[in-house]
Formats: sequence, C-alpha cells, structure tokens
Amino acid sequence: MESSVDTFPFLEVLVDQKIDKPLCYENRGYVLSIGSRVLVPLRNKIVKATVIKGLLKPTFEKTAKIHSVLEEESLTEDLMELASWMSEYYMTPYQKVLTTLLPASLKKKTQKEEQFFVEKKAPTASLIELAASIHQKNSPQKKVLEVILKEQKGIYLTKLLELAAVSKSPVDTLVKKGFLELRKIEVDRSFFQHEDFILTPNKVLNSEQQIALEKISLKLGEKKFHAELLFGVTGSGKTEVYLQAIQKARSLNLGVLFLVPEIALTTQTIERLNSRFSEQIAVLHHRLSDGERFDAYRGILSGKISIVIGARSAIFAPVQNLGLIIVDEEQDGSFKQTEEMPCYNARDVAIVRAKNLKAVCILGSATPSFETFTNTKHDKYGISNLTQRAKQNPLPDVKIVDMRLEDDKKKCRALFSDLLLNKIEERLKKGEQTLLFLNRRGFFKCQICTTCNETLKCDQCDVCLTYHKGENILACHLCGYTQDPQKVFCKKCHSKETMRFQGPGTEQVERALKALFKEARVLRMDRDTTRHKGSHDALYREFKSQKADILIGTQMIAKGLDFPLVTLVGILNADSMLHIPDFRSAENAFQLLSQVAGRAGRGDFPGEVILQTRLPDYQVIHHASKEDYKNFFDEELILRKQFQYPPFKKMCRIILQSSQNDLLDRFGSYLTHLLEKHREEDVDIYPYTLCGLTKAKGQHRGQILLKALKFTSLKKMVLKIPKHEKIKCLVDVDPLQTFF
Ligand code: ADP
Ligand code: ZN
Ligand code: ZN
Repeated sequence: MESSVDTFPFLEVLVDQKIDKPLCYENRGYVLSIGSRVLVPLRNKIVKATVIKGLLKPTFEKTAKIHSVLEEESLTEDLMELASWMSEYYMTPYQKVLTTLLPASLKKKTQKEEQFFVEKKAPTASLIELAASIHQKNSPQKKVLEVILKEQKGIYLTKLLELAAVSKSPVDTLVKKGFLELRKIEVDRSFFQHEDFILTPNKVLNSEQQIALEKISLKLGEKKFHAELLFGVTGSGKTEVYLQAIQKARSLNLGVLFLVPEIALTTQTIERLNSRFSEQIAVLHHRLSDGERFDAYRGILSGKISIVIGARSAIFAPVQNLGLIIVDEEQDGSFKQTEEMPCYNARDVAIVRAKNLKAVCILGSATPSFETFTNTKHDKYGISNLTQRAKQNPLPDVKIVDMRLEDDKKKCRALFSDLLLNKIEERLKKGEQTLLFLNRRGFFKCQICTTCNETLKCDQCDVCLTYHKGENILACHLCGYTQDPQKVFCKKCHSKETMRFQGPGTEQVERALKALFKEARVLRMDRDTTRHKGSHDALYREFKSQKADILIGTQMIAKGLDFPLVTLVGILNADSMLHIPDFRSAENAFQLLSQVAGRAGRGDFPGEVILQTRLPDYQVIHHASKEDYKNFFDEELILRKQFQYPPFKKMCRIILQSSQNDLLDRFGSYLTHLLEKHREEDVDIYPYTLCGLTKAKGQHRGQILLKALKFTSLKKMVLKIPKHEKIKCLVDVDPLQTFF
C-alpha cells in the first residue's frame, strides 16, 4: 500500500459521523498519509475525519478544502491495514471500525494539562542547613524542606502541599528567598511516577521457562510472524517469561504490547511490570481520564513510550516498531467486544496485527481456548509447555465432595460440606487464609432434577432447556424446540421434576459464615462491594495484608490474584457453569475451576482445594480438579465434532434488538425465513429465538445463529439481512456467548 498521499491534490476521507460513504476534499498542500486525521467542513460544521486515499481528480464537483490537520492523532499505516481486515471479518462498516480504533478521548477535544512543579534551586547542602536552622517545631517552611529533600528531581506542587500538609505560602517564601524554583510544566497524566518503584532483578528461570524464552527470543530475532502458545499451569511463572521476553524485544529496539484481561489490570500486575523496567510504561485502562488517555496516546505515537499494557482496546495502541504482542489469559471473555460492532476479539486481532507486522505474538494460558489449542495441533502456532509450578511447590490437593450426600444429611440444600467447615476451622486456628468461591452464573432458568441432579437438555443441541416465563414453556434457545414444563420428567432417573431457579448469593454465604465462625474476619468481593473506583484494589490489599481470614468472591477472585497466604480454596458450587445452555459451558467451567483451584498454595505452604458439586459424575469436574487440560480437551472435542460446533465450524450470532416485542418477533421469523431461502449449502441455521437475557436496557433481545464450514458462506448470508429502522442488528462473528 502506498501510504503517502501528500502529492495528491484531492483526498478521500471518512468523517467521524455515521456516514459510511467516503467524501472528497481538496488538499491544501499538507503532507499527509493514509490514516492522517484532519478537520473538514461538513454542512456548516467542522468535523474530524480520517484520510483513506489520495486522488488526482475530485469525485465530486464542488469540493471544499480541508480545514486543518490533527497531527497528534493520526492512525498508523499498520492500524489502517488492521481496520480494513476488521471491517471485512467482523462485517462492520469501515468508518465504524476506524472510530473503534481511536480512543474515545481523541474524538473529543482534549487539552494538554499544565501543572506547577517545584525544584531545588539552591544546593542540597544549603537546604539541609536551612532546615536545621529552623528550630520551631511545626514550621511550615521546615515541613516543605523535609519533603523536598526526599525527592531526587522535584515534585508536583499539589503533591508537595499534600505531603507537607501546608498551604502554598511557605513555598512562595522559599521561592522568593531563592531556595526553590516553581515552574509550569506539561504533565504526563498517563504514567506512574517512576520513583515509586524499586527495580528488582530477573528471576533465574527454570529449564522449562528457559526453553520457552529461548524459542521466543529466537523468533524475535527472525523478524517473521510467529505465534506461540505459552501453555503453563497456574503459578508456573508465565509472567516471568513475558517479562524477560519484553526485555529481549526492547534490546532489539522493538515496541511491546501486553494485553491482560480487564479484571487483571490491577496494581499488582502493573507493579510487577514497573519494577523491571526503568523506561516509561503506558497503562491503558477504562478508568483513565480523557486527559490521561490523551497523554498516553501522544507518548506512544511519538515513540517516547515503547511498552504498553492494557485491556481489550489497548490492542489498537499505535506502538512504534511493534515487534512483540503478549496476550495473557488468551481465552478470557473480556477480550471480546460484544455490546457493539465490531464484535472483535482482541486476541484474534493481535494475531492478525502481528502477522501484518511480522511480529511475534505470545498467547499465554493454563486453559487455552479450543480454537488456540487446535491451532497448535495443526502447527499454525508453536507451543511451549510449563508443567511445573515455578516455586517448586506442588499443585494443590483437590478433594471433590458430593453435595447430594450433604443435602441428605442436613435434610436441606446445604451450602457447606462438613469437610469444608473443618478445613476452614483448621485454617482459622493456624492463622492461614481461605478463599471461598461462589459462582453466580448458571442457576439461570435451568431445570435441575432434585433426585439425581441431571439437567434437562435438548436432544438436538446438547444444551440445557431454559424456562420462558411469559409463555410458560421450556425452550431450546438454539433450535427452538419447546416443551411443556408440566409434562417434563427426568431422562436419567425418570422421576418427575420440580423447578429450581436461584442459587445462594455471596451475602447469604457471608451471613452463614459469620454465624458459624464468630471470630473470623470475613471479606466479600463481588459486583456490589466493588462498585466504586478503587474498591477492588482496596479489598485486594486488605486481604493480602492479612486483615481478614476469609475472602468470599465471585468470578472476580478467580483471575490472576496472587495471595501467598491462602492455603485453602473452597468452591461452593462447582457445577453451576454446566447449567448454562451454551456449547462452551464445559470449556468455561473447566477454565474457571482450574483458575480458582490455582489460587491455593501459591506461597510457601501447600494448598488444598475443596470442590463441592452435585454432579460428581461429570468428567469435566474431575479433569479440572487435576488441571488435566489435555484429557479434557480430547473428550470435549469429540462432542464438539459430533455437533459440529467450533472449532469444526465457524459461527456467527445475529442479535436483534428492539423496544417493540411484537415487531421483533415478526422480524425474527421473517429473517429466519429469508435466510433459509438463501441458505448456502454449508450453512446451518438455528432459527430465531429469544436470547437468554431476554431484555436489556429496555430492549427486547432475540437471536439467530449461523454455523458454516466456510467464512465466505456466513458472510453471504449476513449480507442478505435487510435494514429495519426500528430494529438494531448486531452481528457477532466467532461469538463467545451463544446464550446470554
Ligand atoms: P503464572 O502467571 O504462570 O500463573 P506467575 O508468573 O504468577 O505464574 O508465577 C508464580 C510465582 O512464581 C510468582 O510468585 C513468581 O514470582 C514466581 N516465579 C516465577 N518464575 C520463577 C523462577 N524462575 N524462580 C522462582 N520463582 C519464580
Ligand atoms: Zn435444540
Ligand atoms: Zn433425575
């Protein structure tokens, strides 16, 4: 692609408005390239736009001139290339993809921020002398001097005033006397102040880590595309390999992009990174203010910052000379955008971006996605195995408890088994910590047999039937099969069923625990207790510093957190994931269970896991308890093949949303019919049904699923979907969720 368009007198641009069609403007002699951002006049307004092409002749007679150039936010050539791929693959208009690539703050106007910075003007010795000469105990000047003497270079005025707990006037006095200097400087709002981190040396790698690093280093040197799965059990030291791979990349002057799940983008992760590198690192996360994001983006674009860490959308950071992309926990659902098109998966975008740039992409996981693991089997990706925990401590000892026996003993649905209670008590006595995990998803409108705990499934699709209250029916949300709940019987034990919708909540667990162990200090981490900014970090620190004995949590505690003093993990309802009617439910259950179990025994003491289930016969639970991914994969793959689910066929989910229920229903049936009429040979159509989440934000939701051998067939079908002004249509290619 010829990227420079500066010699062309006319330009084709896409404006940041909802106009898919390129517009033509006259260049005013600016030096521009594809991806340059400009301001152009449009209907009496000045709007932002992206240059996509240079033209010798205008495509429109009365072209206007571009207004000006936005130097600081141009999209790089490689991002433009990525955008066209995304537009094709995720079936989304190019203009919409472009706006996804630009951080939200750049779509608005953002100012550079200036702040006062205080520096020493006189030599340090004279400042010490001056401080010593002030005998008055609470002298504000003395306090200011004490703070500033601790700083190497200087300090922001606001921070100085905060630390010294004084007003500005003593600072002014010291400035007047010539001891200090006050200047206005542009602040970088994107970075942690580096003085806060003590650099730590590299760890000596064990032989498996060493082999992985050597392979990655070799690939980095080749400057060819390569994808490597770093397949390591929890606690095997994947992060150490990432860190040293980043060092290698930096020594080759390559830029680095490090993606982690949103939930793992905690102080802990950032500290680990910052404590290894003396250079600046940009941290991109959704809590950044517009100003902070703007600064980070500018620093990255200018090449001043070469290491970027962030969650999903950080994959679009304009890192210069990008040579290494790392995706940690590559299977994680948070890498997938689902609320809005393009429904991209940052993990897959990372692979494509690395391919375009001839870069290396490391995907790390203890429980890789089926897609990724399949790619290693077909030699599309390399694989490095880390089979041992890095600190030589063994994997935790996992015990599976059959809760049906506990229910019988207690004559009710039990929350805790006797074994778990005994183990908790032991920990309280020894002063060790316990983590209790409660899964809140899955008890969702699903039929469970009270005698044998079998779930009611669709014969055709192997997913659970779900209850639809409005119609009072049980339905398969994939093929639309329905059944009268009154006439249902258990296919396993043949007894008549009673329905059960809700499992216990974290609050209930907390109350029960406090009643059982009055002296225990209990913390709870779930959506309710982490609503406020910083509360997640606060809870994390509180537990880590041993201010509590037991932490109860949901999905949030499963990922990435490192608590060395936790020696017991209790999984209260291991099977609830399996009740979600989705072909990935076993895969997701396996991932979650191994992650939670992996939280135990990460420090110097061995860990123990109590896994409570009412489905002890399910293989996935046994495989997860041993972190036996390979056997789980082989068994599950047979089912996937039988029902032709991904990775055997490609899938596409069409979600229809409308505020009008009837209209949605009619359109859904009509669309099913239309698609069936134009069906490509290799396509399976799952007709219109309601989504598991039938209504969200006032919008009714329904869906049609398509499955095909060839991507092009899916695309042909999607192109047949007509537009309807009252119905929002969302196309999700490679959906991670087919239910909610
Ligand atoms: P993973 O990301 O694979 O779950 P981590 O990278 O968090 O594992 O490593 C687990 C623990 O082992 C961490 O506390 C880490 O500091 C430590 N560790 C990693 N590699 C080594 C090593 N080579 N020698 C000693 N300790 C290590
Ligand atoms: Zn079905
Ligand atoms: Zn039964």
